[in-house]
Amino acid sequence: MGEPEAGSEFAILAAAAAGPMADAQYILPNDIGVSSLDCREAFRLLSPTERLYAHHLSRAAWYGGLAVLLQTSPEAPYIYALLSRLFRAQDPDQLRQHALAEGLTEEEYQAFLVYAAGIYSNMGNYKSFGDTKFVPNLPKEKLERVILGSKAAQQNPAEVRSLWQTCGELMFSLEPRLRHLGLGKEGITTYFSGDCTMEDAKLAQDFLDSQNLSAYNTRLFKDVDQDGKPRYEVRLASVLGTESALHSEMTSRLKSYEFRGNHFQVTRGDYAPILQKVVEHLEKAKAYAANSRQEQMLAQYIESFTQGSIEAHKRGSRFWIQDKGPIVESYIGFIESYRDPFGSRGEFEGFVAMVNKAMSAKFECLVASAEQLLKELPWPPAFEKDKFLSPDFTSLDVLTFSGSGIPAGINIPNYDDLRQTEGFKNVSLGNVLAVAYATQREKLTFLEEDDKDLYIRWKGPSFDVQVGLHELLGHGSGKLFVQDEKGAFNFDQETVINPETGEQIQSWYRSGETWDSKFSTIASSYEECRAESVGLYLCLNPQVLEIFGFEGADAEDVIYVNWLNMVRAGLLALEFYTPEVSSWRQAHMQARFVILRVLLEAGEGLVTVTPTTGTDGRPDARVRLDRNKIRSVGKPALERFLRRLQVLKSTGDVAGGRALYEGYAAVTDAPPECFLTLRDTVLLRKESRKLIVQPNTRLEGSEVQLLEYEASAAGLIQSFSERFPEDGPELEEILTQLATADARFWKCPSEAPSGQA
Ligand SMILES: [Zn+2]
Repeated sequence: MGEPEAGSEFAILAAAAAGPMADAQYILPNDIGVSSLDCREAFRLLSPTERLYAHHLSRAAWYGGLAVLLQTSPEAPYIYALLSRLFRAQDPDQLRQHALAEGLTEEEYQAFLVYAAGIYSNMGNYKSFGDTKFVPNLPKEKLERVILGSKAAQQNPAEVRSLWQTCGELMFSLEPRLRHLGLGKEGITTYFSGDCTMEDAKLAQDFLDSQNLSAYNTRLFKDVDQDGKPRYEVRLASVLGTESALHSEMTSRLKSYEFRGNHFQVTRGDYAPILQKVVEHLEKAKAYAANSRQEQMLAQYIESFTQGSIEAHKRGSRFWIQDKGPIVESYIGFIESYRDPFGSRGEFEGFVAMVNKAMSAKFECLVASAEQLLKELPWPPAFEKDKFLSPDFTSLDVLTFSGSGIPAGINIPNYDDLRQTEGFKNVSLGNVLAVAYATQREKLTFLEEDDKDLYIRWKGPSFDVQVGLHELLGHGSGKLFVQDEKGAFNFDQETVINPETGEQIQSWYRSGETWDSKFSTIASSYEECRAESVGLYLCLNPQVLEIFGFEGADAEDVIYVNWLNMVRAGLLALEFYTPEVSSWRQAHMQARFVILRVLLEAGEGLVTVTPTTGTDGRPDARVRLDRNKIRSVGKPALERFLRRLQVLKSTGDVAGGRALYEGYAAVTDAPPECFLTLRDTVLLRKESRKLIVQPNTRLEGSEVQLLEYEASAAGLIQSFSERFPEDGPELEEILTQLATADARFWKCPSEAPSGQA
């Protein structure tokens, strides 16, 4: 599973408010945030061998990521090929001159650049978060003039014209069915041929289950035979074709089946030429593996992509789980099934990331000080674990993340059987989070002008402190009182006193009961709230700030910004509350709202949230935190709250825990804050999801260079223009040929890709 960072969904309302077009939710705004993924330091710390390993894995990831174009929409591969041709012949600046000469305004040309950058970032013309289509925000006739008069068109007139004819119409079409990904009449998808319905998808799943075949690397194509009977093709992704003579565990599965009176044919070879390139680089990476687990892992992935075997991918994943804390971390394959309308087919993704050694060193110091720091927490020693257990946690900096989007945290593999028996890995992608939290000054909502510079300066460092405390001493602290199956207690019933009641312990967990099973629907948010509160509370400790390298005035600023960020996040959280069903959709954001409520309740002007009117005349709000009252008012309030959270958790007091937590989490329009009304303001001021520019790696002699790009739409385009220096044109040819070979499956009278590319 991939975890998006907070506040990540695309902004329908904000775009609607800002954009000139009626269908603003189907465009990317010209002022969309674009950030670069910074991994220079982590890359610098790699050894030459580690760099070679990372380089070849990155190449494999980027090649495989192109398959996502074929997994998104019938026209996406043509759009990609067309854009890549345009920008190979002329970089964004050169093309601008031509575009302006053709009569485009600067805004229109910028809209085109943003569109192109969006295509590359999402690997297709549908947003990876939200699955809605986006179209260029300029007149089609003007874009046509730019394309047909471009240098690329002068060099290859027939080809460029043909690409434009194939995808131009679809690029702009907002016909209702094409607005979202979906199955049958619900939308467009290329995981299924255009005539497949939900019934077909269910039938195919039953068939796959009956044959013990995974859907992860498949697509379903429906045809009608001479007698008008449907025939289904289940096509597996692989380098080898169905006719290959090489025998493997897969070859016996490639045949015709009769299933409930329907004809199924299992074939393979989907994305074959792309996967061929993936395999070539995995082979090369294998030579630089750090250990035999990595080698065996890669050997199994190679087998998986060559043969079309998910079983081999599972075997590879098993080695991957066993490869604990590697310097260069990666994962590659058909992984996340969010975008298959049926939910079982995986989108290709590949990532390569590096352990953040500097951050990891700080975390280690924190762990070393844990015993002492745990004593600072506001509950009696009896409520603390007998032995500190540091939770499994790695901070990685992403070098490469191919596919349709980049999550901020991951918890994989997704294979349930492996998760039960072998476990999984839990990683935080530090430099992706940094991008998510870095905000341009003018987009920094709800803060006082005075606070903005301080916030920008200290947001990153304070976030590092908060994450370390949250993960290690937050989730790692506190004891559960348990009575085992033999009736024995893990605490002293005689002497342990509940500090809230002054009485002996009245409730506990019985054998078989867990935190999650007892607190069920509130368990994860309550626990996040406890961890966040521990972070806020312990960041006041000078020893902690010293570990992270902050003293004096700097340390005070880190504390202030950490607290300020929390109360602002509590306000932004309202986006993730659904009033219609009175429920929260995101555990962390709910937790931050609860903390905001606790600090508001502390009173004495510690925190204030005030509705205002923005310079645009629309509703706005200001959140203020009095930094002089953090220790005098904030700390005692947090201390009381944190103790109640821990005591109710330790004693398994579900009724008390629910009353406390749900009380604070309730969103009403009660004065003075009127949170329901504030929620409308939060939605109105929501920022669009950022585009992220990633670096390239290049082999020069035996050394790997890191190539970085400007944080702009043009920089993002440039990174893709230089991504496939050896075989860019060949890849575009491959993609359009693969798309054309299957184009008939999505053809119907009104919306067919018309020509051949
Ligand atoms: Zn957490």
